[in-house]
Amino acid sequence: MIVKFPVFVPRGAAAITIWPFVFTNLDNPPRDLVEHEKVHLRQQVKFLFIGFALLYFGSKKWRYKFELEAYKVSVKYGLSPQVAAEHLSSDLYGNVVTYDQALQDLA
Ligand SMILES: [Zn+2]
Repeated sequence: MIVKFPVFVPRGAAAITIWPFVFTNLDNPPRDLVEHEKVHLRQQVKFLFIGFALLYFGSKKWRYKFELEAYKVSVKYGLSPQVAAEHLSSDLYGNVVTYDQALQDLA
């Protein structure tokens, strides 16, 4: 369920998923974002939420792995690979990889 509730959305992000909700600061989130967050919903179910939270916030490597999976879906739904690579290589996800590496990982 998608809920417009900007208070929960981290600075620099457009949405955050906390199963079973997707919180966003946008009136009409684009399809690529919705599909991205649906990936996080599935990841949270797969790792029984607490496992996801521990891995996501406890390990930059795992955070990158989760985000790469989600951004691959975003690209499938219209986000440009260049924008996805900018996000993946940004502070938001801990600067784990370079832009070029992120672009390569998305391919
Ligand atoms: Zn994400």
